[in-house]
Amino acid sequence: MLRIPCPFCGERDYTEFAFWGDASFPRPADPQELSDSEWSEHLFHRDNPAGQYLEYWHHALGCRGWFIIQRDTRTHLISPVCRGGEGRS
Ligand SMILES: [Zn+2]
Repeated sequence: MLRIPCPFCGERDYTEFAFWGDASFPRPADPQELSDSEWSEHLFHRDNPAGQYLEYWHHALGCRGWFIIQRDTRTHLISPVCRGGEGRS
């Protein structure tokens, strides 16, 4: 079972969290300037790598905090964690 270390609450079962996708590249600074195809590319066309992957998570059934983890998709080992709004480590 996957255990996720919430930076606010500590380690909890993954069922308390909502996965919010790839955090490997930032949201466009001005989405209004993107064409429909560029916005579609940003939202839906992502790599599915085997190995290290940055992910957004929301502690939906806990503190409701946002954070980023780095998870190895082959082993589910998680490291490091940063809170939403903080720099990535
Ligand atoms: Zn939490």
